[in-house]
Amino acid sequence: MKKNKNSKILVLFLILIVTVGFYAYLHRSELTEKSLLLYADINLKHKNYENAYKIYNSLSQYSSKDTEIKDKMTICLCKMPMIYSVQKKLLEIAQTDDGSNAEKMATSRILKFRNKILKKYGDNYVKEILFNNLVLRWGTESKNINYYLSGDKETPEYYLKIAKDVFADWQRESDEFLTFKQVNNEAGAKIIIKFHGNADTSEIPVNTEYQAGVTKPLIEKENLLKQMRIDILNKTHENEFFTKEQIKTLITHEIGHALGFCGHTKDNATIMYYSLDNDYDLYQNRIDTSLTSADINTLKLLYALAPDVCDNIKELEEKEKFIYHKVLFDALDDNKNAAVEEAMELVKVNPGSIAHSLALADAYTADGKYKESINLMILLTNHTTDKKLLNVLYYNIANNYILIKDFENALGYAEKAVSTNNTVDNRCLLAYVKLLNGDLEDAEIGFKRILSRHPSNVNASLGLADVFIKKKQYLEARKILKQLVKLRPDVVNDKVFAPYKMYVII
Ligand SMILES: [Zn+2]
Repeated sequence: MKKNKNSKILVLFLILIVTVGFYAYLHRSELTEKSLLLYADINLKHKNYENAYKIYNSLSQYSSKDTEIKDKMTICLCKMPMIYSVQKKLLEIAQTDDGSNAEKMATSRILKFRNKILKKYGDNYVKEILFNNLVLRWGTESKNINYYLSGDKETPEYYLKIAKDVFADWQRESDEFLTFKQVNNEAGAKIIIKFHGNADTSEIPVNTEYQAGVTKPLIEKENLLKQMRIDILNKTHENEFFTKEQIKTLITHEIGHALGFCGHTKDNATIMYYSLDNDYDLYQNRIDTSLTSADINTLKLLYALAPDVCDNIKELEEKEKFIYHKVLFDALDDNKNAAVEEAMELVKVNPGSIAHSLALADAYTADGKYKESINLMILLTNHTTDKKLLNVLYYNIANNYILIKDFENALGYAEKAVSTNNTVDNRCLLAYVKLLNGDLEDAEIGFKRILSRHPSNVNASLGLADVFIKKKQYLEARKILKQLVKLRPDVVNDKVFAPYKMYVII
């Protein structure tokens, strides 16, 4: 009797399932969408943002134009912890550039996050040292970064001793944020420093100009960082041994590269400073350099970013706890002034910082506000006597004047740049401004003078070709361009060369 009742219920239940199933089959998309939306709304109401987000997100794949779903999805994202995937999704929404509410909400959330991070890490230059806009660094979990040092028979003993000290400096100054350990074999080392003479090295290509130190990453399978290899020459370009101070600065800088600092800065108060024009500048003019707070802040922020190239596979795959670097640095279309505002904020907080003021000038230039940039830089020239900095300022002011086609002022500042520092770059700029001013004879003399000593200089070659093109001496232009291609075959792939291609092919 009991058994019979149970089976009746079962049959009824089966019929019900089949009916509902059949109905759902007929109206499936509508039904599931509506019930899912309802379910997501309930989750949102109960502040289960993560659950709600997941549903809105999958719904938005099907109805991408539904602004209500997109808005609600963005609300959830704004309320969720800023893990990597949330940062990435918010940036994607902020960059849609459709003027939607979602875009505005996402933009404001990102800017708030950005300010928080930049305040937390303080004065830094991470933006300038990324590796082709990718983050390259060692894993944060490995206890020690092993390093190996070697020299040849000419290498002074103090080079090796100082290299050891410099690793200790990086470790101490970063409050043991990174720790290093010397090992006795190359194979077990992540960072290798080799000091050697000029003649017996196959490591440094012979056709490059003198470079005291070179750091190269060894990367496998596209993103697996295996080793950082530093080559440092025993002697200066004048064939003398480096002094203790010189070699210390040089090693500190190269180790910076080996830790993931893949670029240089314009600020000569940082270890990654590198002059625009002079390969020897680093050790000639920076003998007093030691690590600064900006260097250490940069290190710490770099290691808080999600890596694109790293030795730790886990960190490459599980990025949630890290910062997405584009969230810090990408321009947000809705808010073109963001970079300017941010830089102004930093200048306000730290009015003495020339690095911040320069960053503001850069932001103005990037934003098309050339006059603001010029005014700020002129102001900075009145507040510094540092020749290197003045050189950077004059050079940049002249370039900004070129951008607003005020060639007369551009000429004045290009001349100032040359008289501050008679470098190839500055002289090239001056000749270029003369060309723009229509002073073809002087421009030609200027470019020719540079090429007589630096025949493979790209800018001077292109400048001289420009002079000949303006004078309608196309065969002369072609000769110069062909010569350049012969000396620098890679130049044909360079964007700057594109307009000249036709002259070479003629
Ligand atoms: Zn460097």
